[in-house]
Amino acid sequence: MKKFSEESFRIRPSVSFVPLQQDGYYQFFLSDIRQSFNLAFSDKKYVKILTELDGSLSFLQLENKFSLTDQQSLGLERLFEILIERCVVEDIRIVALRSSDPFRRVKTFIGSYVPYHDVESTWKRISNSHAVVIGVGGIGSWVVSLLAQMGIKNFTLIDDDLVKLHNLNRSLFTKQDIGSLKTLAIDRMLSTRKKGYYAVTSIAEKLHSSTRLISLLKDNLHPQTVLINCADYPSVANTSAIINDAAFTLNLPYIIAGGYNMHLSLVGPTIIPRQTPCFHCISYGMDQLKVAEIEGAERVVKEHRNLGNLAPLAAISASFAANEYLKLILDLPQLKPTMFGKRGEFNFLTKKLTVEEYMPWDKCPYCSRGMP
Ligand SMILES: [Zn+2]
Repeated sequence: MKKFSEESFRIRPSVSFVPLQQDGYYQFFLSDIRQSFNLAFSDKKYVKILTELDGSLSFLQLENKFSLTDQQSLGLERLFEILIERCVVEDIRIVALRSSDPFRRVKTFIGSYVPYHDVESTWKRISNSHAVVIGVGGIGSWVVSLLAQMGIKNFTLIDDDLVKLHNLNRSLFTKQDIGSLKTLAIDRMLSTRKKGYYAVTSIAEKLHSSTRLISLLKDNLHPQTVLINCADYPSVANTSAIINDAAFTLNLPYIIAGGYNMHLSLVGPTIIPRQTPCFHCISYGMDQLKVAEIEGAERVVKEHRNLGNLAPLAAISASFAANEYLKLILDLPQLKPTMFGKRGEFNFLTKKLTVEEYMPWDKCPYCSRGMP
């Protein structure tokens, strides 16, 4: 029984297949992820097939056109198996199914990391995931927008604040939203983009305790839920401590989206309870390293609400959070979230991103109990 017959393979458009100096050796360069690997071919027929591989012929047609022996057919099957696994080739029939799919570019992106036949199921896992966004203002509105643009459908938005004129410079709200609950304004924004696609649960509350957060979430727990802290009231530290507690109880990953303080974008850590340093481990590490000026900046902001801020700086923090979310849900060994145990600062003036890494704290009240 043949493994392939009607499959019409092509080399993915982002991959180049080039001869190397050493005879018989060829490089596959995956330009989108800047990675390459080499293969040696003793039979030049395979090289000819790969050079012409544009999806116009099925596997059976390739066998006929190149008059492959049984042995060569088996070899070609094995070669395709390797190239599929390494995201070099794809079946053009599957790609054609996406031609009118609004998320086809996202799927093509995912196809750089998972074999083409797994792209659709991987995509479903992403789109069916559930983002709980706490605080949907300057950073949260961008986070929701970025996740929605990747196709994530399910949102729980927690914020009791109303849209005000002075929010418009750094969020995605418009003048028509002024006076409306931020959560409802975002719900409207999403339904304008793709009616009936998104499921938004709006919770018009300020986050006061982990008990409340747990009770809000525990009956509506989607298998792939990620908490994202974009709330800065009364402080990021305060809300992060609440979210940390709920995340450990419910065993959910969470991302501290950071914030924008004066002329810095703060890029927060990604945390998986009992696997990575948690909020308290990182806070302890920051105290030890005396890099607490971030906290100092927060205190200044609380006292002087009229400090400047900029949408591009808010969007940088949000963009990191949304990228981390995707990596968390994808859960691929070659694509781990980059912000485990890390905190970064992007400096507007220098355009430098400085990232500090923190270790687990051996006396952490959360991580030290029940550490595997
Ligand atoms: Zn900890």
